[in-house]
Amino acid sequence: MMPGSLLVRGISELVTNDPSLGDGSALGVLTDAALVVQSGLVAWVGPAADAPEADRMVDAEDGAVVPGFVDSHAHLVFAGDRAGEFAARMAGQPYTAGGIRTTVAATREAPDGRLRLNVALLCDEALHQGTTTIEIKSGYGLTVADEARSLAVASEFTTETTFLGAHTVPSEYAGRADDYVALVCGEMLSAARPHARWVDVFCERGAFDEEQSRAVLKAGQAAGLLPRIHANQLTEGPGVQLAVELDAASADHCTHLSTADVDALAGSSTVATLLPGAEFSTRSPYPDARRLIDAGATVALATDCNPGSSYTSSMPFCIALAVREMRMTPAEALWAATLGGARALRRDDIGHLGIGARADLAVLAGPSYVHLAYRPGVPIVRSVLLNGEPT
Ligand SMILES: [Zn+2]
Repeated sequence: MMPGSLLVRGISELVTNDPSLGDGSALGVLTDAALVVQSGLVAWVGPAADAPEADRMVDAEDGAVVPGFVDSHAHLVFAGDRAGEFAARMAGQPYTAGGIRTTVAATREAPDGRLRLNVALLCDEALHQGTTTIEIKSGYGLTVADEARSLAVASEFTTETTFLGAHTVPSEYAGRADDYVALVCGEMLSAARPHARWVDVFCERGAFDEEQSRAVLKAGQAAGLLPRIHANQLTEGPGVQLAVELDAASADHCTHLSTADVDALAGSSTVATLLPGAEFSTRSPYPDARRLIDAGATVALATDCNPGSSYTSSMPFCIALAVREMRMTPAEALWAATLGGARALRRDDIGHLGIGARADLAVLAGPSYVHLAYRPGVPIVRSVLLNGEPT
């Protein structure tokens, strides 16, 4: 008996993402398995028949168990709703980066309590769909005070907070983008810094160009933040190369890539984070995941949850899209949504269920992880353990 331990039994298929365990594949799959948690960490995994006794028990009821999803890209601090814009887009209008300003206006108007409640509801929604780690960006305040309070709210819910003051140029700075970049790199960064781990920029035609993006990320780095970037979403551009140049943890979107971009990612430790919810919700061509994976790049999947271009918090939905629309195998998609996300956040304690990992896991309402893509749109996550505790 391990004191204070919790045994998860009745696991038809356990995905550990540890190739030294189970079948030796990248997913490290064990069938008819059990797992023991102690002090919030995975203490033991193995065949059900060999499971030690424990103080408490959770029965997976012949469901599969997978590592909790790591959603490494989400914009949860906002107010308002853009359902009308979505309906117009579905009726044929194109998506542009300018729609962000609608949400900026609503967010600036909202009291802290409203922003906090919105984040709480979305985090809860994500958790019940198996997301146990979520990154949260600012980027709908775009003033010194509104970016700082957005990050203060975000940091109540996650340690993975990202300063995205350079999301778009706010309307009061129209035609003066360089002045706005100076604000972002100066006073706004100083106010954001105590609440943020990461710095991000939307490097895109209509948002910030290469020089401005480099300035934002380098200022963030100089202040002790780690870089990540919105790159190559709407057009080919300099974002991916800039990410690799600065050793960014992740280049996110990667929808329009040159051969040089693919080669740069494959030869770097920068993760290519694909956000198929955005292409789904803007009816746009999906990123070429096969090209990235076959070249040897590390690929992550995330939701991009935001009110304009991808209003989903569901990692299982993104897995289903990746498999159906981007030709990732179910195994590749699950890895990308778990350990891939952990790599995109430069974390080695999450995204897998090897010995010593944080005991964050999802119990599925199906006997195999393949059900994540095979049964889209159903409540496929039956229960979740967060830090080893049932939620
Ligand atoms: Zn985004």
